[in-house]
Amino acid sequence: MKVTIIGTGYVGLVTGTCFAEVGHQVICVDCAADKIKLLQAGGIPIYEPGLEELVKKNTAAGRLRFTTSTKEGVEKSDVVFIAVPTPPLPDGSVDLSFIEGVAREIAASLTRYKIVVDKSTVPVKTGEKVAETIKRYSKSRVEFDVVSNPEFLREGFAVEDFLHPDRVVIGSRSQRPVQAMKELYAPFHAPIIVTDINSAELIKHAANCFLSLKISYINALSVICEAAGANIQEVANGIGMDARIGRQFLDASLGFGGSCFPKDLSAFIKISEQLGYDFALLKDVQQINAQQMDRFVKKINETLWVLKDKKIGVLGLAFKQNTDDVRMSPAIDLCQRLKKEGAHLRVHDPKAMEKAKAVLKDVTFVADMNEVADGCDALIIATEWPEFKKLDIEKARKVMTHPIMFDGRNLFDVAEMEQMGFIYKSIGR
Ligand code: NAD
Repeated sequence: MKVTIIGTGYVGLVTGTCFAEVGHQVICVDCAADKIKLLQAGGIPIYEPGLEELVKKNTAAGRLRFTTSTKEGVEKSDVVFIAVPTPPLPDGSVDLSFIEGVAREIAASLTRYKIVVDKSTVPVKTGEKVAETIKRYSKSRVEFDVVSNPEFLREGFAVEDFLHPDRVVIGSRSQRPVQAMKELYAPFHAPIIVTDINSAELIKHAANCFLSLKISYINALSVICEAAGANIQEVANGIGMDARIGRQFLDASLGFGGSCFPKDLSAFIKISEQLGYDFALLKDVQQINAQQMDRFVKKINETLWVLKDKKIGVLGLAFKQNTDDVRMSPAIDLCQRLKKEGAHLRVHDPKAMEKAKAVLKDVTFVADMNEVADGCDALIIATEWPEFKKLDIEKARKVMTHPIMFDGRNLFDVAEMEQMGFIYKSIGR
């Protein structure tokens, strides 16, 4: 099928590339000319495991190409996906100006029947507004359908998730677009849920809020564990093995971040409010998340006393493992707080250093994770990159002024670290 994706970011590029991989003809559009230029030249603007190879393969095969022209993308395709940002406004509600802008651009380019698919995460009833906008701004009277098809991929595992989804949600009650969407997704052999557009939109916000709720639940439990002298990892294993609960998203940490959970949570609280419901439970989720970082910083303050002129090493800048994405990263937030108190930071991330340089100033970026601890008063683990588990702990102990580690991701064993002479503070243990 002929598919266009408008917005070639973490979601759009993965979506377009994976559709090409299963044989569809794909055009990826983005208004960022530098991004498109880089992709046309064989480069890749983001780090996502396995993506670069697939982009190269499908570009070479002629199934995937890139342009800045929405008009060209719309004209040459049967199905047009919207995958542009839906960032938060200061009051927590969603900035829908990107979606509205794209709807108008699509309207201006409509010459024959199209299926317009919203893949961005949007408030319930956005589909109705998109349809209204296209109708209003389209000069030709051609038919079109609007479908909601929320995306559930995880950054860091995006290609794998897209190629092997747990489910595909298609929001539309019209036969024609549903049939086309089923054909589009047929090569993925995934369960398909067909529902109405409002329910499809709700599913995405409800899923992300539930996942954040799970994280805040385990983080709240970590506080109880610390107070009671219990071990959060063992508690998580004990409850996670219950098939009704599941072990995923039960790792205590310094809190969740990233470009999705915090914004989707505040958006859903706002949406509920507009629909007449005070979603107090989700407000608690937000609060627990904020407190988790406060508590971590407090531990650092209590142990190091004065932070001014202390040298602190930070391992991890991305908001989670396997990605170069630093948007709303707890690690970056932590660095900013420590810097504000006058600490000098030596930081490292396996993939996110370049992106971090744009937001984190006056810190020393260290290329080798084993050199971060040199001369430091403390070392912090801020992102759960698996390679940090292979850190040369013995070397770190020797080169630090005093071996102190704050582990915000519980990567190491408490007894082993203490045996090696570390003052070792982790979460909920
Ligand atoms: P992103 O910022 O990585 O990418 C969005 C792209 O859209 C950018 O490259 C931007 O230049 C482009 N763009 C903006 N306006 C445009 C326009 N008018 N025409 C063409 N291109 C335009 O964002 P993302 O992380 O891919 O997220 C996109 C949407 O998907 C959001 O609603 C997000 O909530 C949702 N989502 C994200 C994830 C994730 O893990 N990142 C997962 C599921 C859903």
